Amino acid sequence: MKVLKFGGTSVGSVENLNKVREILTADQENKIVVCSAMSGVTDQLVRLVENIKFDDAEAITRNLHQLESKHSDVIDELIEDQETRNALKDGLSTMITEMFEIASQEYSEIINSRIITYGETILTYIFSGFLTSIGIHNVLLDAKEFMHVDSIENPNIEKVGTRLNNVIENSEQASLYITQGFVCRNEKEQISHLKRGGSDYTSTIIGAALNASEVQIWTDIDGLHNNDPRYVDETRPISHLTYNEAAELAYFGAKILHPQTVSPVVGKDIPVLLKNTFAPDAPGTVISNKTYQKGLKAISAKDGITAIKIKSNRMLMAHGYLRRIFEVFDNYHTSIDMITTSEIAISLTIDDTSNLDKIVKEIETYAEVTVDQDHSIICIVGESVINDKNSYKLFEILNFIPVRMVSYGGSNNNISILVDTKDKIPTLRFLNEKLFQAQVEAVV
Ligand code: ASP
Ligand code: MG
Repeated sequence: MKVLKFGGTSVGSVENLNKVREILTADQENKIVVCSAMSGVTDQLVRLVENIKFDDAEAITRNLHQLESKHSDVIDELIEDQETRNALKDGLSTMITEMFEIASQEYSEIINSRIITYGETILTYIFSGFLTSIGIHNVLLDAKEFMHVDSIENPNIEKVGTRLNNVIENSEQASLYITQGFVCRNEKEQISHLKRGGSDYTSTIIGAALNASEVQIWTDIDGLHNNDPRYVDETRPISHLTYNEAAELAYFGAKILHPQTVSPVVGKDIPVLLKNTFAPDAPGTVISNKTYQKGLKAISAKDGITAIKIKSNRMLMAHGYLRRIFEVFDNYHTSIDMITTSEIAISLTIDDTSNLDKIVKEIETYAEVTVDQDHSIICIVGESVINDKNSYKLFEILNFIPVRMVSYGGSNNNISILVDTKDKIPTLRFLNEKLFQAQVEAVV
Protein backbone atom coordinates (compact mmCIF):
# COMPACT_ATOMS: atom_id res chain seq x y z
CA MET A 1 0.00 0.00 0.00
CA LYS A 2 1.25 3.46 -0.95
CA VAL A 3 -0.02 6.77 0.41
CA LEU A 4 -0.25 9.67 -2.05
CA LYS A 5 -1.01 13.20 -0.92
CA PHE A 6 -2.07 15.95 -3.31
CA GLY A 7 -1.81 19.59 -2.27
CA GLY A 8 -4.07 22.56 -2.93
CA THR A 9 -2.67 23.45 -6.36
CA SER A 10 -2.72 19.83 -7.52
CA VAL A 11 -6.45 19.66 -6.82
CA GLY A 12 -7.02 23.37 -7.56
CA SER A 13 -8.61 23.17 -11.01
CA VAL A 14 -10.36 20.74 -13.33
CA GLU A 15 -7.27 20.50 -15.49
CA ASN A 16 -5.13 19.63 -12.49
CA LEU A 17 -7.63 17.12 -11.09
CA ASN A 18 -7.30 15.31 -14.41
CA LYS A 19 -3.53 15.24 -13.98
CA VAL A 20 -4.06 13.68 -10.53
CA ARG A 21 -6.32 11.07 -12.11
CA GLU A 22 -3.55 10.17 -14.58
CA ILE A 23 -1.04 9.77 -11.77
CA LEU A 24 -3.41 7.55 -9.79
CA THR A 25 -4.07 5.26 -12.73
CA ALA A 26 -0.45 5.00 -13.89
CA ASP A 27 0.09 1.78 -11.92
CA GLN A 28 -1.98 -0.90 -10.24
CA GLU A 29 -0.64 -0.68 -6.71
CA ASN A 30 -3.08 -0.25 -3.80
CA LYS A 31 -3.33 3.36 -2.76
CA ILE A 32 -4.69 5.66 -0.13
CA VAL A 33 -4.99 9.17 -1.50
CA VAL A 34 -5.00 12.15 0.86
CA CYS A 35 -6.28 15.42 -0.61
CA SER A 36 -6.06 19.03 0.53
CA ALA A 37 -8.79 21.56 -0.18
CA MET A 38 -8.64 23.39 -3.54
CA SER A 39 -6.11 26.21 -3.36
CA GLY A 40 -7.56 29.32 -1.74
CA VAL A 41 -10.48 27.47 -0.15
CA THR A 42 -9.03 27.07 3.35
CA ASP A 43 -8.12 30.77 3.36
CA GLN A 44 -11.72 31.54 2.45
CA LEU A 45 -12.95 29.31 5.27
CA VAL A 46 -10.66 31.11 7.70
CA ARG A 47 -12.37 34.35 6.62
CA LEU A 48 -15.74 32.68 7.12
CA VAL A 49 -14.76 31.88 10.70
CA GLU A 50 -14.00 35.59 11.18
CA ASN A 51 -17.51 36.36 9.90
CA ILE A 52 -18.91 33.88 12.44
CA LYS A 53 -16.92 35.50 15.24
CA PHE A 54 -18.36 38.90 14.37
CA ASP A 55 -21.81 37.51 13.73
CA ASP A 56 -21.82 39.02 10.25
CA ALA A 57 -24.78 37.17 8.67
CA GLU A 58 -24.50 38.91 5.34
CA ALA A 59 -20.82 38.04 4.92
CA ILE A 60 -21.50 34.44 6.01
CA THR A 61 -24.15 34.06 3.31
CA ARG A 62 -21.97 35.66 0.66
CA ASN A 63 -19.02 33.50 1.59
CA LEU A 64 -20.97 30.24 1.58
CA HIS A 65 -22.66 31.03 -1.73
CA GLN A 66 -19.25 31.73 -3.27
CA LEU A 67 -17.96 28.45 -1.93
CA GLU A 68 -20.93 26.57 -3.34
CA SER A 69 -20.70 28.17 -6.77
CA LYS A 70 -16.93 27.59 -6.99
CA HIS A 71 -17.36 23.86 -6.37
CA SER A 72 -20.51 23.64 -8.42
CA ASP A 73 -18.59 25.03 -11.42
CA VAL A 74 -15.96 22.35 -10.87
CA ILE A 75 -18.64 19.65 -10.91
CA ASP A 76 -20.06 21.07 -14.15
CA GLU A 77 -16.71 21.15 -15.88
CA LEU A 78 -15.35 17.89 -14.52
CA ILE A 79 -18.26 15.53 -14.94
CA GLU A 80 -19.94 14.66 -18.20
CA ASP A 81 -22.79 12.52 -16.98
CA GLN A 82 -25.81 14.69 -16.14
CA GLU A 83 -27.19 12.37 -13.48
CA THR A 84 -23.90 12.19 -11.58
CA ARG A 85 -23.60 15.94 -11.83
CA ASN A 86 -26.99 16.47 -10.27
CA ALA A 87 -26.34 13.94 -7.53
CA LEU A 88 -23.02 15.57 -6.63
CA LYS A 89 -24.59 19.01 -6.61
CA ASP A 90 -27.28 17.75 -4.24
CA GLY A 91 -24.57 16.43 -1.94
CA LEU A 92 -22.71 19.73 -2.18
CA SER A 93 -25.78 21.71 -1.29
CA THR A 94 -26.40 19.45 1.73
CA MET A 95 -22.88 20.25 2.95
CA ILE A 96 -23.45 23.96 2.42
CA THR A 97 -26.66 23.73 4.45
CA GLU A 98 -24.72 21.98 7.24
CA MET A 99 -22.19 24.80 7.14
CA PHE A 100 -24.94 27.42 7.45
CA GLU A 101 -26.17 25.54 10.49
CA ILE A 102 -22.71 25.45 12.08
CA ALA A 103 -22.17 29.13 11.21
CA SER A 104 -25.33 30.06 13.11
CA GLN A 105 -23.82 28.74 16.35
CA GLU A 106 -21.71 30.75 18.70
CA TYR A 107 -17.99 30.81 17.87
CA SER A 108 -15.77 28.26 19.61
CA GLU A 109 -12.56 26.41 18.79
CA ILE A 110 -14.64 23.42 17.65
CA ILE A 111 -16.73 25.58 15.31
CA ASN A 112 -13.46 26.89 13.89
CA SER A 113 -12.15 23.35 13.26
CA ARG A 114 -15.42 22.12 11.81
CA ILE A 115 -15.58 25.01 9.34
CA ILE A 116 -11.97 25.21 8.19
CA THR A 117 -11.78 21.49 7.43
CA TYR A 118 -14.78 21.53 5.09
CA GLY A 119 -12.61 22.37 2.06
CA GLU A 120 -11.11 18.87 2.20
CA THR A 121 -14.51 17.25 2.78
CA ILE A 122 -16.06 18.92 -0.26
CA LEU A 123 -13.13 18.35 -2.59
CA THR A 124 -12.70 14.65 -1.78
CA TYR A 125 -16.43 14.11 -2.19
CA ILE A 126 -16.37 15.63 -5.68
CA PHE A 127 -13.13 13.95 -6.72
CA SER A 128 -14.24 10.52 -5.58
CA GLY A 129 -17.57 10.98 -7.42
CA PHE A 130 -15.70 12.05 -10.53
CA LEU A 131 -13.45 8.97 -10.51
CA THR A 132 -16.45 6.69 -10.03
CA SER A 133 -18.28 8.40 -12.92
CA ILE A 134 -15.47 7.47 -15.31
CA GLY A 135 -15.28 3.90 -14.09
CA ILE A 136 -12.35 4.19 -11.66
CA HIS A 137 -13.49 2.22 -8.67
CA ASN A 138 -12.64 3.97 -5.40
CA VAL A 139 -13.94 4.26 -1.86
CA LEU A 140 -14.22 7.56 0.00
CA LEU A 141 -13.12 7.28 3.63
CA ASP A 142 -14.10 9.82 6.27
CA ALA A 143 -10.85 10.82 8.00
CA LYS A 144 -12.83 11.83 11.10
CA GLU A 145 -13.46 8.13 11.70
CA PHE A 146 -9.82 7.22 12.13
CA MET A 147 -7.53 10.29 12.42
CA HIS A 148 -7.54 10.36 16.18
CA VAL A 149 -4.65 12.60 17.21
CA ASP A 150 -4.48 13.22 20.97
CA SER A 151 -1.39 15.32 20.72
CA ILE A 152 -0.27 16.97 17.51
CA GLU A 153 3.39 16.66 18.41
CA ASN A 154 3.04 13.03 19.30
CA PRO A 155 0.21 11.29 17.45
CA ASN A 156 -0.83 7.85 18.57
CA ILE A 157 0.00 5.98 15.38
CA GLU A 158 -1.25 2.63 16.66
CA LYS A 159 -4.65 4.01 17.50
CA VAL A 160 -4.95 5.55 14.04
CA GLY A 161 -3.85 2.22 12.52
CA THR A 162 -6.42 0.17 14.46
CA ARG A 163 -9.23 2.54 13.56
CA LEU A 164 -8.21 2.85 9.94
CA ASN A 165 -7.92 -0.91 9.49
CA ASN A 166 -11.40 -1.25 10.99
CA VAL A 167 -12.82 1.38 8.69
CA ILE A 168 -11.22 -0.31 5.68
CA GLU A 169 -12.47 -3.77 6.72
CA ASN A 170 -16.00 -2.48 7.17
CA SER A 171 -16.11 -0.60 3.89
CA GLU A 172 -16.36 -1.85 0.35
CA GLN A 173 -13.07 -3.39 -0.81
CA ALA A 174 -11.06 -1.34 -3.27
CA SER A 175 -7.54 -0.78 -4.45
CA LEU A 176 -8.03 3.00 -4.27
CA TYR A 177 -9.18 4.89 -1.19
CA ILE A 178 -9.65 8.64 -1.06
CA THR A 179 -9.60 10.62 2.18
CA GLN A 180 -9.20 14.11 3.59
CA GLY A 181 -6.01 15.70 4.87
CA PHE A 182 -5.84 18.26 7.69
CA VAL A 183 -8.86 17.14 9.76
CA CYS A 184 -8.52 15.01 12.89
CA ARG A 185 -10.17 14.34 16.25
CA ASN A 186 -8.59 15.45 19.49
CA GLU A 187 -8.35 13.64 22.82
CA LYS A 188 -12.00 14.48 23.55
CA GLU A 189 -13.05 13.07 20.16
CA GLN A 190 -13.92 16.59 19.02
CA ILE A 191 -13.21 17.63 15.46
CA SER A 192 -9.85 19.34 15.27
CA HIS A 193 -7.13 20.00 12.69
CA LEU A 194 -3.40 19.51 12.19
CA LYS A 195 -2.61 23.21 11.64
CA ARG A 196 -2.24 24.95 8.29
CA GLY A 197 -0.48 22.82 5.72
CA GLY A 198 -1.26 19.76 7.85
CA SER A 199 -2.34 17.45 5.03
CA ASP A 200 1.30 16.47 4.55
CA TYR A 201 1.29 15.33 8.15
CA THR A 202 -1.97 13.39 7.63
CA SER A 203 -0.28 11.43 4.88
CA THR A 204 2.73 10.36 6.94
CA ILE A 205 0.55 9.51 9.97
CA ILE A 206 -1.50 7.24 7.69
CA GLY A 207 1.66 5.89 6.08
CA ALA A 208 3.10 4.98 9.47
CA ALA A 209 -0.24 3.62 10.74
CA LEU A 210 -0.55 1.22 7.81
CA ASN A 211 3.16 0.48 7.42
CA ALA A 212 2.91 1.75 3.86
CA SER A 213 5.70 1.00 1.39
CA GLU A 214 6.12 4.73 0.78
CA VAL A 215 4.46 8.10 1.12
CA GLN A 216 4.37 10.40 -1.91
CA ILE A 217 3.69 14.09 -1.45
CA TRP A 218 2.63 15.71 -4.74
CA THR A 219 2.96 19.48 -5.04
CA ASP A 220 3.66 22.01 -7.77
CA ILE A 221 7.44 21.92 -7.50
CA ASP A 222 9.88 19.16 -8.41
CA GLY A 223 11.11 18.39 -4.93
CA LEU A 224 12.83 20.31 -2.19
CA HIS A 225 15.27 22.83 -3.63
CA ASN A 226 18.70 23.70 -2.30
CA ASN A 227 17.64 27.32 -1.78
CA ASP A 228 14.42 29.30 -1.92
CA PRO A 229 13.40 29.48 -5.60
CA ARG A 230 11.24 32.53 -4.88
CA TYR A 231 14.30 34.63 -4.16
CA VAL A 232 17.26 32.89 -5.71
CA ASP A 233 17.82 31.99 -9.36
CA GLU A 234 19.46 28.73 -10.31
CA THR A 235 18.28 26.67 -7.39
CA ARG A 236 18.04 22.95 -8.03
CA PRO A 237 16.05 20.08 -6.55
CA ILE A 238 17.87 17.86 -4.08
CA SER A 239 17.62 14.19 -5.02
CA HIS A 240 18.09 12.71 -1.53
CA LEU A 241 17.66 14.00 1.99
CA THR A 242 17.82 12.24 5.31
CA TYR A 243 14.87 12.53 7.69
CA ASN A 244 16.96 14.83 9.89
CA GLU A 245 17.83 17.15 7.05
CA ALA A 246 14.23 17.29 5.85
CA ALA A 247 12.94 17.99 9.36
CA GLU A 248 15.38 20.86 9.86
CA LEU A 249 14.55 22.37 6.48
CA ALA A 250 10.80 22.06 6.97
CA TYR A 251 10.99 23.57 10.43
CA PHE A 252 13.22 26.39 9.30
CA GLY A 253 11.06 27.62 6.51
CA ALA A 254 11.00 25.30 3.50
CA LYS A 255 7.40 25.94 2.52
CA ILE A 256 6.99 22.73 0.57
CA LEU A 257 6.72 20.56 3.69
CA HIS A 258 4.77 20.86 6.94
CA PRO A 259 7.37 20.87 9.76
CA GLN A 260 6.14 17.70 11.44
CA THR A 261 5.77 15.69 8.25
CA VAL A 262 8.63 13.25 8.57
CA SER A 263 8.38 12.46 12.28
CA PRO A 264 5.76 9.65 12.07
CA VAL A 265 7.71 7.65 9.47
CA VAL A 266 11.26 8.02 10.79
CA GLY A 267 11.20 5.02 13.14
CA LYS A 268 9.46 2.90 10.51
CA ASP A 269 11.92 3.73 7.79
CA ILE A 270 9.19 4.52 5.26
CA PRO A 271 10.55 6.75 2.49
CA VAL A 272 8.80 10.03 1.69
CA LEU A 273 8.93 11.16 -1.94
CA LEU A 274 8.31 14.77 -2.91
CA LYS A 275 6.93 14.82 -6.44
CA ASN A 276 5.63 17.35 -8.94
CA THR A 277 2.07 16.84 -10.24
CA PHE A 278 2.98 18.93 -13.29
CA ALA A 279 6.14 16.99 -14.12
CA PRO A 280 5.42 13.49 -12.83
CA ASP A 281 8.49 12.01 -14.51
CA ALA A 282 10.91 14.34 -12.71
CA PRO A 283 12.66 12.34 -9.95
CA GLY A 284 11.78 14.79 -7.14
CA THR A 285 13.28 14.35 -3.68
CA VAL A 286 13.51 11.11 -1.73
CA ILE A 287 13.60 11.48 2.06
CA SER A 288 14.80 8.41 3.90
CA ASN A 289 17.33 7.34 6.53
CA LYS A 290 20.07 6.80 3.97
CA THR A 291 22.90 9.28 3.70
CA TYR A 292 24.02 9.44 0.08
CA GLN A 293 26.23 12.44 0.44
CA LYS A 294 27.54 14.30 3.44
CA GLY A 295 28.05 18.03 3.71
CA LEU A 296 26.09 21.05 2.65
CA LYS A 297 22.70 20.29 1.08
CA ALA A 298 20.31 23.21 1.35
CA ILE A 299 19.52 26.63 2.73
CA SER A 300 16.16 27.83 3.96
CA ALA A 301 14.84 30.90 5.73
CA LYS A 302 12.21 31.36 8.38
CA ASP A 303 10.68 34.82 8.84
CA GLY A 304 8.79 36.36 11.71
CA ILE A 305 11.56 35.77 14.23
CA THR A 306 12.01 37.93 17.32
CA ALA A 307 15.42 38.16 18.96
CA ILE A 308 15.61 38.86 22.68
CA LYS A 309 18.80 39.93 24.40
CA ILE A 310 18.95 39.49 28.16
CA LYS A 311 21.85 41.14 29.91
CA SER A 312 22.79 41.19 33.55
CA ASN A 313 26.00 41.50 35.50
CA ARG A 314 24.53 39.10 38.01
CA MET A 315 24.97 36.40 35.39
CA LEU A 316 28.76 36.67 35.76
CA MET A 317 29.96 33.34 37.16
CA ALA A 318 26.49 32.62 38.51
CA HIS A 319 24.94 29.22 38.11
CA GLY A 320 21.23 28.58 37.67
CA TYR A 321 20.83 31.78 35.74
CA LEU A 322 19.88 30.17 32.43
CA ARG A 323 17.42 27.89 34.18
CA ARG A 324 15.72 30.90 35.65
CA ILE A 325 15.37 32.52 32.23
CA PHE A 326 14.24 29.36 30.46
CA GLU A 327 11.61 28.75 33.10
CA VAL A 328 9.92 32.00 32.19
CA PHE A 329 9.64 30.90 28.55
CA ASP A 330 8.49 27.48 29.62
CA ASN A 331 5.76 28.93 31.85
CA TYR A 332 4.39 30.78 28.85
CA HIS A 333 4.65 27.74 26.53
CA THR A 334 6.98 29.66 24.25
CA SER A 335 9.63 27.62 22.52
CA ILE A 336 13.07 28.95 21.79
CA ASP A 337 14.82 28.29 18.47
CA MET A 338 18.31 29.80 18.57
CA ILE A 339 20.51 30.65 21.53
CA THR A 340 23.90 32.29 21.91
CA THR A 341 25.51 33.34 25.14
CA SER A 342 28.32 35.46 26.47
CA GLU A 343 29.38 35.66 30.08
CA ILE A 344 26.93 38.41 30.97
CA ALA A 345 24.29 38.16 28.26
CA ILE A 346 22.17 35.67 26.42
CA SER A 347 20.44 36.18 23.08
CA LEU A 348 17.67 33.91 22.00
CA THR A 349 14.94 33.80 19.38
CA ILE A 350 11.25 32.94 19.43
CA ASP A 351 8.61 32.91 16.71
CA ASP A 352 5.50 32.91 18.87
CA THR A 353 5.20 36.37 20.37
CA SER A 354 1.74 35.99 21.88
CA ASN A 355 3.16 36.16 25.43
CA LEU A 356 6.18 38.33 24.69
CA ASP A 357 5.04 41.29 26.82
CA LYS A 358 4.56 39.13 29.87
CA ILE A 359 7.86 37.32 29.36
CA VAL A 360 9.77 40.60 29.01
CA LYS A 361 8.07 42.10 32.05
CA GLU A 362 9.03 39.14 34.21
CA ILE A 363 12.66 39.02 33.11
CA GLU A 364 13.01 42.79 33.38
CA THR A 365 12.69 42.48 37.13
CA TYR A 366 16.26 41.15 37.23
CA ALA A 367 17.90 41.87 33.85
CA GLU A 368 18.04 44.32 31.00
CA VAL A 369 15.98 43.12 28.02
CA THR A 370 16.20 44.26 24.39
CA VAL A 371 13.72 43.01 21.79
CA ASP A 372 14.40 43.05 18.02
CA GLN A 373 11.50 42.08 15.80
CA ASP A 374 11.28 41.20 12.09
CA HIS A 375 14.28 38.96 11.86
CA SER A 376 14.86 35.84 9.78
CA ILE A 377 16.73 32.67 10.61
CA ILE A 378 18.79 31.43 7.68
CA CYS A 379 19.45 27.78 8.13
CA ILE A 380 22.22 25.88 6.35
CA VAL A 381 21.57 22.17 6.44
CA GLY A 382 23.29 18.91 5.57
CA GLU A 383 24.58 15.81 7.37
CA SER A 384 27.92 16.88 8.88
CA VAL A 385 27.59 20.32 7.35
CA ILE A 386 29.85 21.75 10.03
CA ASN A 387 32.68 19.68 8.55
CA ASP A 388 31.97 20.67 4.95
CA LYS A 389 35.14 22.11 3.52
CA ASN A 390 33.23 25.03 2.00
CA SER A 391 31.34 25.99 5.14
CA TYR A 392 33.90 28.57 6.22
CA LYS A 393 32.86 30.67 3.24
CA LEU A 394 29.56 31.45 4.86
CA PHE A 395 31.35 33.62 7.39
CA GLU A 396 32.36 35.96 4.59
CA ILE A 397 28.79 37.19 4.92
CA LEU A 398 30.01 39.20 7.90
CA ASN A 399 31.73 41.54 5.42
CA PHE A 400 28.45 42.48 3.80
CA ILE A 401 25.52 41.98 6.08
CA PRO A 402 25.03 42.71 9.77
CA VAL A 403 24.49 39.31 11.38
CA ARG A 404 22.63 39.38 14.68
CA MET A 405 23.39 35.84 15.86
CA VAL A 406 25.24 32.71 14.71
CA SER A 407 24.67 29.18 15.89
CA TYR A 408 27.40 26.74 14.92
CA GLY A 409 28.01 23.33 16.41
CA GLY A 410 24.64 22.95 18.14
CA SER A 411 24.19 20.01 15.81
CA ASN A 412 26.46 18.62 13.12
CA ASN A 413 23.70 19.07 10.59
CA ASN A 414 22.73 22.70 10.95
CA ILE A 415 24.36 26.12 10.98
CA SER A 416 21.97 28.99 11.58
CA ILE A 417 22.42 32.71 11.29
CA LEU A 418 19.99 35.44 12.26
CA VAL A 419 19.63 38.56 10.13
CA ASP A 420 17.18 41.41 9.83
CA THR A 421 14.42 40.29 7.44
CA LYS A 422 15.25 43.17 5.10
CA ASP A 423 18.64 41.48 4.56
CA LYS A 424 17.17 38.02 3.97
CA ILE A 425 17.18 38.00 0.18
CA PRO A 426 20.74 39.35 -0.21
CA THR A 427 21.85 36.80 2.40
CA LEU A 428 20.22 33.90 0.56
CA ARG A 429 21.76 35.04 -2.72
CA PHE A 430 25.16 35.57 -1.22
CA LEU A 431 25.18 32.14 0.40
CA ASN A 432 23.94 30.54 -2.77
CA GLU A 433 26.81 32.00 -4.70
CA LYS A 434 29.46 31.28 -2.08
CA LEU A 435 28.39 27.81 -1.06
CA PHE A 436 26.64 26.20 -3.99
CA GLN A 437 28.58 27.73 -6.84
CA ALA A 438 31.69 26.33 -5.20
CA GLN A 439 30.04 22.92 -5.20
CA VAL A 440 29.16 23.17 -8.89
CA GLU A 441 32.71 24.26 -9.74
CA ALA A 442 34.10 21.37 -7.74
CA VAL A 443 31.98 18.91 -9.77
CA VAL A 444 32.97 20.52 -13.10
N1 ASP B 1 -6.08 22.90 3.36
C1 ASP B 1 -5.24 23.08 4.52
C2 ASP B 1 -4.43 24.34 4.37
O1 ASP B 1 -4.56 25.05 3.39
C3 ASP B 1 -4.38 21.91 4.78
C4 ASP B 1 -3.39 21.61 3.70
O2 ASP B 1 -3.58 22.01 2.56
O3 ASP B 1 -2.39 20.95 3.96
O4 ASP B 1 -3.69 24.66 5.26
MG1 MG C 1 1.43 22.27 1.75
